[in-house]
Amino acid sequence: MVHKFDAVILGAGAAGLMCAIEAGKRGRRVAVLERANRAGKKILISGGGRCNFTNLHCRPENFYSANPHFAKSALARYEPSEFIALVEKHRIPYHDKTLGQLFCDRSAQDILEMLESEGRTAGVQLILNSNIQEIRCADGFIVSTNSGEFQAPVLVVATGGLSIPKLGATSLGYDIARQFGLKIRETRPALVPLVLGIEDRTQYCDLAGVSAEVDVSTDHSAFREKMLITHRGLSGPAILQISTYWREHSSIRIDLAPGRDVTLAIREAKERNMAAARFALQGFLPKRFATRWLDVYAPSSWTNRALEELERQVHEWVVEPADTEGYEKAEVTVGGVETEELSSKTMESRRVPGLFFIGEVVDVTGHLGGFNFQWAWASGAAAGRAL
Ligand SMILES: Cc1cc2nc3c(=O)[nH]c(=O)nc-3n(C[C@H](O)[C@H](O)[C@H](O)COP(=O)(O)OP(=O)(O)OC[C@H]3O[C@@H](n4cnc5c(N)ncnc54)[C@H](O)[C@@H]3O)c2cc1C
Repeated sequence: MVHKFDAVILGAGAAGLMCAIEAGKRGRRVAVLERANRAGKKILISGGGRCNFTNLHCRPENFYSANPHFAKSALARYEPSEFIALVEKHRIPYHDKTLGQLFCDRSAQDILEMLESEGRTAGVQLILNSNIQEIRCADGFIVSTNSGEFQAPVLVVATGGLSIPKLGATSLGYDIARQFGLKIRETRPALVPLVLGIEDRTQYCDLAGVSAEVDVSTDHSAFREKMLITHRGLSGPAILQISTYWREHSSIRIDLAPGRDVTLAIREAKERNMAAARFALQGFLPKRFATRWLDVYAPSSWTNRALEELERQVHEWVVEPADTEGYEKAEVTVGGVETEELSSKTMESRRVPGLFFIGEVVDVTGHLGGFNFQWAWASGAAAGRAL
């Protein structure tokens, strides 16, 4: 049996649901095919269960892509205020946790229920437990599934990235892009903890749980947030942010005392010695970490020159991670469908009319802080309004 629709959307995550709502509101008959037994599983676990659904200070600079200009158009035409208006219409209580990051007061379930309710009102048909077997191009697109064939002149791919495979992430979106000859930018896990090499791990990881406010940077980016030592390496918001920019065999620089003159206290101490140095570092780093770090980077002498070197090292601790914790622990996937393949206004393929890609499957990755959902809403709305 062939089910005919105006548009078929693959994936009922953040982007797919938003696209379906916008297209449904415009009178389009829309089917959303979802592999899992419920929609929006990632929304439910997001933001520690409270869903950081957008960010008040959303700017194009908060996104990583081979083409930093690509996201601008969709982001400008669906701003955080539009999603906030939807949240307020549904009387969902929320708060600004920090840095403009908006979280639900109660639970991420509020956001999912809001999207499902908007979808029902717009007449969207959600088909769960859909096993997509084949996609053909004949009189539009035909999607073969375990629950029959779905035919539509428009196919929207919203199957997300590769992170958290146990929640049902698959490579279907990339496979479809390849099937239709679209280029893919190499993918890698991002917003992910970093694993230290064996030597550093032995040195620091028994301090798991210790955290400090740091400035962490690569050649192309810098973030000032909390860093956390874990059993295998480093995590915390600062490290998750920099992981998006980190490449294998490269190092990151960590300023352990942003904006502070650390050695002043040692220079002015009655005696320049390890006790004075420990005291100085413990002024801004947790005690155990300060002591351990100084054991490794003990100054060779107490001359002004040696203290200058210590000052430099505190502000530029160079760490070469061995790896990331991988897709199992990553919040997002960097890379994906090349943006040059898509219209930045509608997200439609330039090569294959009627074929759209939205959300995380596209080579646009947000920083930590609600930006990834904002991209999902904005790209979903851009496509939904073009159908
Ligand atoms: C633990 C965690 C916490 C996060 N917290 C936040 C946060 O607080 N704020 C924020 O902005 N971002 C957060 N993110 C990132 C955010 O969840 C994603 O960027 C966003 O969900 C991407 O939306 P999407 O619709 O493109 O993909 P997804 O939400 O991943 O949706 C893709 C959908 O496609 C379905 N699918 C996949 N393969 C198939 C297939 N073969 N057939 C049919 N369906 C398929 C999936 O089951 C899924 O429902 C978090 C991510 C994780 C992993």
